[in-house]
Amino acid sequence: MTDELLDRHRAVMPAWMPVYYGGDALEIVSGSGRRVTDASGKTYLDFFGGVLTTMIGYDIPEIREAVQEQLRTGVAHTSTLYLIRRQIELAEKIARVSGIPDARVFFTNSGSEANEAALLFATNVRRSNQILAIKNSYHGRTFATMAITGHRSWSASSLSPVQVSWLPSGERLRGRMAGLTDADHIEAAVSELRETLATVTAGDVAALIAEPIQGVGGFVHAPDGLLGALKKELDEHGILLIADEVQTGWGRTGDHFWGYQAHDVTPDLITFAKGIGNGFALGGVVGRADVMNAVPAISFSTFGGNPVSCAAGNAVLDYVLDHDLQENARRVGAILLDGLRELAATSPIVAEVRGRGLMIGVEFTRPGTGEPDVAATLRVFDECRAGGLLVGKGGLHNNVLRMGPPLTLTEAEAREGLEILTAAVRTAQAEAI
Ligand code: PMP
Repeated sequence: MTDELLDRHRAVMPAWMPVYYGGDALEIVSGSGRRVTDASGKTYLDFFGGVLTTMIGYDIPEIREAVQEQLRTGVAHTSTLYLIRRQIELAEKIARVSGIPDARVFFTNSGSEANEAALLFATNVRRSNQILAIKNSYHGRTFATMAITGHRSWSASSLSPVQVSWLPSGERLRGRMAGLTDADHIEAAVSELRETLATVTAGDVAALIAEPIQGVGGFVHAPDGLLGALKKELDEHGILLIADEVQTGWGRTGDHFWGYQAHDVTPDLITFAKGIGNGFALGGVVGRADVMNAVPAISFSTFGGNPVSCAAGNAVLDYVLDHDLQENARRVGAILLDGLRELAATSPIVAEVRGRGLMIGVEFTRPGTGEPDVAATLRVFDECRAGGLLVGKGGLHNNVLRMGPPLTLTEAEAREGLEILTAAVRTAQAEAI
């Protein structure tokens, strides 16, 4: 059945559309809690859904009830030109948690659109189309967001409506930051920014956009405090900071509600999306009123902030706050991180375990050479699936497993996943050496 569906997918979708698990693609037909079931009836623990779309898990009564209540009115959506109570409520909550005084909120349907909107706000208020972006970033698949995406696999076009200058990523296993202490890393990054401003951009840059932890790039994170140090330099020129919190917001990093909060800084604009609607399309920008109000013409989204998505969005945010899922991410994430670090200590193919809260990456390299080991990564990825665990993969060299379970993950589920991961790594390692 799934074979036939894969053939139909290939016959009707563009060739470049990625599908996990090659010829053995997965069709998920149902879910409950942190588990999903495929078309053959096999059930998996889902350590990836959280990053993609599922902030708090599957079949959560509070979400179902909130969405159904909206649908029972007979109106899924009419127009964002009318007042939408749920949209206003959600905007108020997001403004409150944003950390930005007197913040404004604009809703979109996706993270790409949220970043497009942030670029629109920043370039308008600064009257400049120059943007600083970070190598190995991912910001979306639209024309401008692809241009600020510093990752060859996801940036199909070099054509760009903005002028981009690149700053180094937080990558520490290789590249110019390899082996540096946190303080030296920050100093090097600040001096790189100064040099870029002096040589490339003439200083009239609109904004720097950065993910506090790079998601698609392989859960790479620079030292705490880096964005704050960069922002001091940016402030000298009036350059804005856009924090792309599409993967790092809503408490996922455990220590904080937003990723930027590890950096002793307040961004001018914050973008959010992915799991905030727990599967319903919802994203947006929260930011400084003066920046967001500065767009001289009207900007409108037909579906951004529609009542169904906002019903889900309110229920998700309430659930995250009421159940202190940030603390759960910190506590259960620590179990996963500790377990994986123990595994890494005895595994020659695990080069690094990194992350924060329930956002965890495992990088695989060849024993001895330290070269990215794509084959071992793929082997672990496939073995996890065979063992009943879904994980993601990514990174610039495609040698990083990415885990972002729903924030409701329990301790028992973390341990269960660890067991499957450990067995998968052992299998891959036996073949690699
Ligand atoms: N920013 C980040 C950090 C992302 O990870 C993504 C999605 N992978 C996006 C933006 C784009 O979001 P969307 O796919 O909803 O357009």
